[in-house]
Amino acid sequence: MSVQSETAIDRFLTIVSSFSRELNTARKTLDVYHAIVKVLRRFFDIHSFCVLEQNAQTDWSTIWSDSGFPLSFEELLPFVELAKERRSFSFYPLDEGHLLILPTLKAGRVVSVLMGYLLNDPEEFLRENESVLGFIMFFSGLVLENLRLYQEVLDSATVQEGLKKYFQTMLDSMDEAISVWDESQRLVFTNQSYIRSDPNEKVVGIIKNLVTQSYENRNRNSLEKEIEGHFYSFGTVLLGSPDQVLVSMEDISNTKELERIKKLDQIRTEFVSNISHEFRTPLAAIKAYAETIRDSFSSLDEETGQQFMITILEQSDHLEELLNRLLDFSKLENHTMQLEIENFDLVEQVQEVEQNIQKMLEMYAVSFSIETDLAKAVVSGDRKRINQVIFNFVTNAIKYRDAEKPERWAKVSIEESEEEGKVTLSVIDNGIGIPQECMDKVFEKFYRVDTSLTYTVEGTGLGLAVSKEILDKHHALIMVKSEEGKGSSFSFSLPKAE
Ligand code: ADP
Repeated sequence: MSVQSETAIDRFLTIVSSFSRELNTARKTLDVYHAIVKVLRRFFDIHSFCVLEQNAQTDWSTIWSDSGFPLSFEELLPFVELAKERRSFSFYPLDEGHLLILPTLKAGRVVSVLMGYLLNDPEEFLRENESVLGFIMFFSGLVLENLRLYQEVLDSATVQEGLKKYFQTMLDSMDEAISVWDESQRLVFTNQSYIRSDPNEKVVGIIKNLVTQSYENRNRNSLEKEIEGHFYSFGTVLLGSPDQVLVSMEDISNTKELERIKKLDQIRTEFVSNISHEFRTPLAAIKAYAETIRDSFSSLDEETGQQFMITILEQSDHLEELLNRLLDFSKLENHTMQLEIENFDLVEQVQEVEQNIQKMLEMYAVSFSIETDLAKAVVSGDRKRINQVIFNFVTNAIKYRDAEKPERWAKVSIEESEEEGKVTLSVIDNGIGIPQECMDKVFEKFYRVDTSLTYTVEGTGLGLAVSKEILDKHHALIMVKSEEGKGSSFSFSLPKAE
């Protein structure tokens, strides 16, 4: 091996390694051309550079041009054609110097052309370093292609990242709590509302059920549910690929509350208008009988006259009862109920109620009993009002009987309370019972448990609200125990009379 060729190889290797180093840090296309120019300056006295790149299938444009580069874009285009034809570097005499045309190739196709205006003669260089230009041409083509791919990946990652951020911001700005679940019920995405809503186990359980349903029926599902005093509206959507389910959840308690208030308002208006209407029947009867007595007073026999009087009295009682209902309602609305405290025997009150419910007991075939070890249970309170509470509890025990059961019963038990100095009265039945979630609500004005049975039974949903108001005024708690299908028990305690 001659010294001459060793020197050429050494130089070649030095160029290759410094060129590789430069390219290592290249992040943009222009960095590659800078690196090429840097290497070329080792060999040539370069006046200026210019780079043309193919941006579409056929279009070419200048991506870099030093000031003072002697040729215009149009003048360069024929050289581009030449480079495409030859697919190798070449030199052309130009003014005082030479034009270097260095194409870069991708899969044998010219994708860019670097043109340099050299002030010296390339002949000498060509003799010893021809391979250097070939290498630069080949290697920069590779790097440019890699950079292009890298940029593409980077661009699509940026686009994806941008899209992800866009959707995330959009989903985070929604009031609905959004969560996405996979087939093994794993949570794969949540928006901010979901995180803020901090769903408890119960809510998550419902969501997971809906997710399973959606996977099973491959359809949208929706559900409205009350959970611990809050109303939620759930909806699911199957997302195509990957196969996941999106669940939206919204707390619609406010809307429900508004609906409830509106409904209450409507019921209230209906109640007042119905009761006012009910006044007409007894009033008309009283008027008609009174008129008959007036007009045929002298000709009426004693028995008929008495019968008329009885009817008038009965109708007056009915009127009084209606009026009391109306008054109770208004007292309930304004919390203006007044108590008249006296000492009275609870047992006697229950017996009085028993007398008044005989017809009802017969009609509904319900047996009634009083259970007590106490001969007397004298307590202190408003006798009439407590009687009203017992009457309400007992009539409810009869009204909400279970027609399916062969034996239907209602009983009142009176016993010493656990708390000293008090007596507890309980009304117990084996009726239909009250669903757990309605237990607190039965004391609300106009609330009636939403079952078909409730609506076949006459009622206004005011009895328990009035009873609660009365017992509240007595500082007495109402205790309810009930099991759907088994029966209910309503109790309260009053202080014994001193
Ligand atoms: P009303 O009987 O006029 O509907 P209440 O205020 O007395 O009104 O009772 C409210 C609701 O509570 C009833 O509509 C019924 O659904 C339920 N309820 C009350 N007492 C009983 C009972 N003993 N058994 C089952 N349900 C009851």
